[in-house]
Amino acid sequence: MKPIQVNEQFKDVKIARILLERINLNKDEFSFMEVCGTHTVQIFKTGIRTGLNSNIKLLSGPGCPVCVTSVRDIDKAITIAGSKDFILCCFGDMLRVPGTSLSLEKAKGELAANVKIMYSPIEALELAEKSPSKKIVMFGVGFETTIPAFAAVLIRAREKKLKNLYIYSVFKLIPPAIRTLLESKYINIDGFILPGHVSTIIGSGEYRFIAEEFQKPAVITGFEVVDILEGILFLSDMARNKQAQIKIEYSRSVNPEGNKLAMEKIYSVFEKTDVEWRGLGKIRQSGLKLRGAFRDFDIDNVLDIKLKSPEENPQCICGDVIKGMSTPLDCKLYAKECTPENPVGPCMVSSEGTCAAFYKYGAKS
Ligand code: SF4
Repeated sequence: MKPIQVNEQFKDVKIARILLERINLNKDEFSFMEVCGTHTVQIFKTGIRTGLNSNIKLLSGPGCPVCVTSVRDIDKAITIAGSKDFILCCFGDMLRVPGTSLSLEKAKGELAANVKIMYSPIEALELAEKSPSKKIVMFGVGFETTIPAFAAVLIRAREKKLKNLYIYSVFKLIPPAIRTLLESKYINIDGFILPGHVSTIIGSGEYRFIAEEFQKPAVITGFEVVDILEGILFLSDMARNKQAQIKIEYSRSVNPEGNKLAMEKIYSVFEKTDVEWRGLGKIRQSGLKLRGAFRDFDIDNVLDIKLKSPEENPQCICGDVIKGMSTPLDCKLYAKECTPENPVGPCMVSSEGTCAAFYKYGAKS
């Protein structure tokens, strides 16, 4: 007999229908935000968005690392890639994100900037070993899920005494962004669908403030249709009963303590710092910089980059889309000047961006 895969029950259409019916019995109006690009895409792909009654509104938050990278950071990455003897290694989805006047892809084509796509940061380390006359720079983009791999590479580079590997860290931490959203007077969020992948690393403790300080419920949710619907059902029950708790729906992957080894690795290399988020501005202690023992890997030690003031396209409302204050349908450029083939803003570049998901699944609201 074929063994039942653990994930199969979470894809079960019959269970999904029952959950959807139960959620739709609730008549109260709630706005819930998902803070993960993979959730955003799955919510469209599985038809959850169209299946829910209109009293439950799903907002897409700052869950796509490409989308929250600031224009200034893109401009700086382009300058690094254009510097003599430097090679910038970045993930492929960063290539087409527009900076003030160019993207990394255009800089590569028009200015012969040295940009190399990496699938894992270990490739940057290998490139540094093979190319001692070049300075290899990792463009450190991502949330808590991605950061341990970069930390491991830097630990290895230090052991190997590599002198030509650097990092430009624009990493972001999810809990401070959620705090900023909750502190905003302009957005009403009744609960959060918390990111499954990030939570496997950080656990549930870092989200406690959502319930304790802001009296809102939140659920750490997996990525299959049953996971997400179960998460929404938990949220609507808790919101209706005014219960502020942090629940773990994704218990097959997430435990309350998170992954202690991964967290130790991150904080042995990095420490928290204030960083700029697209749409959310500068957020206290929401990013990471290198600790003293690893400062030699900091790109700012070898390149003194002076940038002009960054400029965003004034018609692109990505900032408001990221905060859940607007949808892509509110943008004048959506599906006209701005399409996945010709993206004007980052939310249309990344497959996990809200504008790209709206476009791909033909969302009407
Ligand atoms: S549709 Fe394009 S221009 Fe409009 S907010 Fe989205 S990415 Fe920006």
